[in-house]
Amino acid sequence: MIKTTLSYFQNQTAARGALLPTGPLFPTGPVQIGCGKGSAYTSFALALLSLMSVLAIVFPNYLTIAELREAYGPWLSVIRGMLQGGMMGGAGLALFAISRGKQIWIAASALALITVAQVLGGADAKVGELTPAPFSVGVDWVVIGLLSVGAVFMAIEKLAPVRKDQPILRDKWVLDMKYFFVYHLALGAFLIGTNTVLNTFVSWMQIDSVALAVSTMHPLLQFFAIMLIVDLTQYAIHRTYHSTSFLWRIHAVHHSSEHLDWLSSSRLHILETLPLRLFLLVPVFVLGFDPAVVNIYVVFASFQATLLHANLKLELGWFEHLFVVVRHHHWHHSNDARAHNTNYAAHFPWIDRIFGTFYEAKGWPTEYGVSEKIPSTVLGQAAYPFTPVPNRQG
Ligand SMILES: [Zn+2]
Ligand SMILES: [Zn+2]
Repeated sequence: MIKTTLSYFQNQTAARGALLPTGPLFPTGPVQIGCGKGSAYTSFALALLSLMSVLAIVFPNYLTIAELREAYGPWLSVIRGMLQGGMMGGAGLALFAISRGKQIWIAASALALITVAQVLGGADAKVGELTPAPFSVGVDWVVIGLLSVGAVFMAIEKLAPVRKDQPILRDKWVLDMKYFFVYHLALGAFLIGTNTVLNTFVSWMQIDSVALAVSTMHPLLQFFAIMLIVDLTQYAIHRTYHSTSFLWRIHAVHHSSEHLDWLSSSRLHILETLPLRLFLLVPVFVLGFDPAVVNIYVVFASFQATLLHANLKLELGWFEHLFVVVRHHHWHHSNDARAHNTNYAAHFPWIDRIFGTFYEAKGWPTEYGVSEKIPSTVLGQAAYPFTPVPNRQG
């Protein structure tokens, strides 16, 4: 069951902390790629990823997720090759940026990070010993998330953006990146917590004959059944978050994004993330679906949750009546009063039709976010539900 929840947390996660530098070193506002600064920022990203990777190799006990470790073995030479390429590319881009006099401090910081990574062994770093550790954080999971979801979506969002003028490093991207980092780092704790709760408090609900019947159904049928069960559960929880004053304040943090893209899917209050992850898994766990199918589903769901927020103008005609693609959820985030409290479904838009909360996604919203003022820091947003706020729901 641990593995079945593994990818569940890849999509969106949240909490607190300030792991990225801010202020003069790192831009908190929009940065237009192509203005000459791109190589400096790219070099910093590559340097940071490289250093995190080397640290994870040297200190796997504390910096990798136990459930992921066994998968790395066959890929170690590929990982080392990518690491070498990342470090060389990062250094090259940093030197280029410095030679052009662009964002010198960021480029110099990138070189410093790459130097530290090299001192620790670089691409040839010795794999640290694995002994029982009291805790671990998912540095490896952050790297995997940024390289897979981040890099892929940054590329496809540029192909067909909803908002052409929205840069990759748009306003509040640092805030959302903090959420991304903290939730990915906390994956190990999430897994342990979720599995402990499911095994301790929920397993008694399992009925062997039902589990046997469910787990032996055709895998495709199981997959769609999981989609339907999770979406119905998600619909109920999501709608409750919108219709209950205190829960809305929690959920409003997610809705406070004024720029939707792959990274905005990370902005979630911890009091939404934890119960959602847990309650969505309960019926799947109790019914006893084949763990292999559940794993495939959670990978799919992680990808789709990111896709729903992407700055991607994906229009698929009749298909959008059957499956939630992008527009359905973009309208859910719209600050247009007509679309408030609609389109809760994450997989099947007809669930919204059945329950009377469907808003037909014609065209694209022009404004996202909420009218109420939400703090713009992770800690401020964590505290927001507990502070007096206006009554508006949206
Ligand atoms: Zn919502
Ligand atoms: Zn959303």
